[in-house]
Amino acid sequence: MARDYYGILGVSKGASDDEIKRAYRKLARQFHPDVNPDPEAQEKFKDINAAYEVLSDDRKRQIVDLGGDPLAPGGGGPGGPGGPGGAGPFVGFQDIMDAFFGGATGAGRGPRPRTRPGADAILRLELDLQETAFGVEAPITVDTAVLCTTCSGAGTAAGTHLATCEACGGRGEVQSVQRTFLGQVVSARPCTVCQGYGTTIPQPCPTCAGDGRVRTRRSLTVKIPAGVEDGMRIRLAQQGEVGPGGGTAGDLYVEIHERPHDVFSRKGDDLHCRVTVPMTAAALGTRLTIKTLDSEEPVDVKPGTQPGSTLRLRARGVPHLRGTGRGDLYVHLDVRTPTKLDADQERMLREFAKTRGEEVAELTKQGGFFSRMRDAFNGHA
Ligand SMILES: [Zn+2]
Ligand SMILES: [Zn+2]
Repeated sequence: MARDYYGILGVSKGASDDEIKRAYRKLARQFHPDVNPDPEAQEKFKDINAAYEVLSDDRKRQIVDLGGDPLAPGGGGPGGPGGPGGAGPFVGFQDIMDAFFGGATGAGRGPRPRTRPGADAILRLELDLQETAFGVEAPITVDTAVLCTTCSGAGTAAGTHLATCEACGGRGEVQSVQRTFLGQVVSARPCTVCQGYGTTIPQPCPTCAGDGRVRTRRSLTVKIPAGVEDGMRIRLAQQGEVGPGGGTAGDLYVEIHERPHDVFSRKGDDLHCRVTVPMTAAALGTRLTIKTLDSEEPVDVKPGTQPGSTLRLRARGVPHLRGTGRGDLYVHLDVRTPTKLDADQERMLREFAKTRGEEVAELTKQGGFFSRMRDAFNGHA
């Protein structure tokens, strides 16, 4: 009678590959001879391994599901000669490795491809506010890897071909068997002769020395849309480095850096600037002409404007990157107090203060060096 492989692992007939693997991993940890010296455990461990070998192999599992036993002597059906690698008492060493070390060595084995995707590249582009605001076609220069035109990426000299690596037989890795506390363990290292490619280049392309790509300096033009901001990246698909062996080029990212502007500071799409008006203009009101990024706007300063007041010019900021419209321009008003008054001006200002009932105490003659100097200047002796 066929053995109950599902029962040995304690999984149901419909168990997924994952469930089978998990069950095996758990039992292997429990019954491995190095962990559990009990002779019965050793027998149990063999059963667990056999069950896993069968149930993790679609073909063998099918035989089990049809009522057969793929491991039974003679009754193996299309089982093949003795299983892979002439397994000893413990089958599936790699699987044991997986069970104990989380499958780190399991996936993606075999020679690594010579042709691989290229790396992305990033380039810093400095722009003025005028350019980030309204867009620009900026010429850029990139130092990058491009396809070798001599060999079209193959890496081989004209008329020659890749050769299978003799050291590893084309597998790209060499295996070694070690005895460890877990029993025999097969480990694989990349072949040092072919660097894991499984092939060698007997006669490398003279232009690229076998890399399939060459470094060069390229000039291209980036279209910068209106409204970009400092720190934004513009992606140019496949304008990055061509990969080894002529693999697909990576992307080129152009990172925007906005130079500080003399007049305007930017917050999002809004702009801010400061304008100084004399105290008299703030008091009486005036009309200013503000030079925006792209126009000149008349702006009325109302009579009685206070220091720190702000005027807003709608839609005179930076155009929105997506959609229509623009940010606003905020004009912050600094009111300048006169610093030097001649005798006449001071007299008028004092009279003005008096008419407003704003008593201004005069600085005394003991008021310090500067007030004495001023008194002397004003002719008060
Ligand atoms: Zn080449
Ligand atoms: Zn090799």
